[in-house]
Amino acid sequence: MRIDLILKERRTLSFEVFPPKQEHDEDLSGIRGTLAALTAESPDFVSVTYGAGGHNRPRALEIAEIVLSLKMTPLSHLTAVGYTKEDTERVTHTLADLGVENLLALRGDVPADMKFPQDPWIDFRYALDLVNFLRASGTPGFCLGGAAYPEKHAESDAPERDVEVMLNKERAGVSFFITQLFFDNEIFFRFRDRCRSVGVQSPIIVGIMPIFRARQIRRIVEISSCSVPEQLEVILARYADDPASMEDAGADYAASQIAELWRRGVDGVHLYTMNKSRQVLDIVARSGLRKKRLR
Ligand code: FAD
Repeated sequence: MRIDLILKERRTLSFEVFPPKQEHDEDLSGIRGTLAALTAESPDFVSVTYGAGGHNRPRALEIAEIVLSLKMTPLSHLTAVGYTKEDTERVTHTLADLGVENLLALRGDVPADMKFPQDPWIDFRYALDLVNFLRASGTPGFCLGGAAYPEKHAESDAPERDVEVMLNKERAGVSFFITQLFFDNEIFFRFRDRCRSVGVQSPIIVGIMPIFRARQIRRIVEISSCSVPEQLEVILARYADDPASMEDAGADYAASQIAELWRRGVDGVHLYTMNKSRQVLDIVARSGLRKKRLR
């Protein structure tokens, strides 16, 4: 089903998974089990990440197929970096043939360990170029989503620039956004106000990263340079050497973040699952979202 149509009917709960490395899950039985477990929450869609430059393309496509076989709606991420228009047409036709109707149109980043035979920005410089191409070319009429950054994209000169970029994507045909992770809800609410004040009208789904381990969060914070509120700093320091308590406190943190966001009217909640179904289902249960979604 198209996500723009789902969002017209209701606020969404969705999950993100990533293609596991070959050596960790050769026949994809692990991720199949994860996805089967996640069906328990009847997610509105499941997104599948895409390695910049397409290095994990076959597995990303297989996982989208698994999502479909489990009667869930896939959202396939698609990155532009390193791709020509011809590469993009090939992938999008394959996805359409599988039955995928939704794409998250992304620019991507040049991976530090990857060499491209040509200029990686040969046909697309920004995600907007990809969106324009997908809309103008013969590729089938996907429902398109885009990325959003409540705390500013790393290369952006100002938060206003990111919001302007969102407005341009929306005008080009993006019909919903999913945010980068954040740990401070007030930052998101200020961002949402900024978006609405410049005229961005599309639903903005919040991306929530559960805290599983202190090291994982420190790394993510370094990469995304997102703010860490005092309350989270305390948890990270207190349970750094106690993984079970860290998981428990992290689950509570994510659950209360989600509960407040839902209460204050977000268009949807998207959980970055890190392919961990048990912990993610526990967080959804603690947030009280199941009952709220049934109302
Ligand atoms: P863009 O929208 O092109 O923005 C990139 C930068 O360029 C921003 O700083 C923006 O302000 C600036 N910019 C845009 N247009 C212009 C313009 N016309 N003039 C000047 N500056 C401009 N990466 C992956 O490799 N695989 C994934 O599966 C993946 N999934 C993601 C999912 C979500 C929800 C998010 C938030 C990010 C994801 N990423 C993924 C990371 C993403 O690829 C990077 O953050 C990347 O650096 C930017 O992608 P974008 O689509 O936001 O790019």
